[in-house]
Amino acid sequence: MTTNTTCACCAPPFSHRHGMNRRGMLGLAAGLLGAAAFGRGARAADGTTYDSMLLTCIDPRFVTTVNGWMDTQHLKGQYSQFAIAGASIGVVAPAFAGWAPAFWDNLGASMQLHKIKRVMVVNHRDCGAAKIAYGADAVASRDAETALHRKVFAEFKAQLAQKQPSMGIAGGLIGLDGTLESLA
Ligand SMILES: [Zn+2]
Repeated sequence: MTTNTTCACCAPPFSHRHGMNRRGMLGLAAGLLGAAAFGRGARAADGTTYDSMLLTCIDPRFVTTVNGWMDTQHLKGQYSQFAIAGASIGVVAPAFAGWAPAFWDNLGASMQLHKIKRVMVVNHRDCGAAKIAYGADAVASRDAETALHRKVFAEFKAQLAQKQPSMGIAGGLIGLDGTLESLA
């Protein structure tokens, strides 16, 4: 892009970093105009008060499990969802460095459109992306696997605090039985 004729007041703050196309920018700007209220606890343009964005893995074994766990947290219908291999691993692992901008831009969009207050990070055990990113040895035992996900969660939390300091964080590490352990 050699010139930028879009006025600052109309451009969503997250759009200029990664070249969202003009139609996308206009669509988001229209959405913003439709949302009269801003700030914490505000309602989305459709009048709903949403809670969070769920960050989860693409693993088919966990799709129903993770959404079922969200239901147990009384969040059914209250969250947007971003699925990427490894969940928070897909955002912070150096091996997947090219993926992170898509997550941060989508989080920014959901914050603006849905007035969400936090990210629900749900990593899972036996994650193939963890092995790709950090090697099989890094998850060779249950304790090593837990330690790796704890380290990744801490890194994600630090990046979230830097990029979107108003956002809270919750979630943890879920097993095939649907039990979630906190990583905080
Ligand atoms: Zn996975």
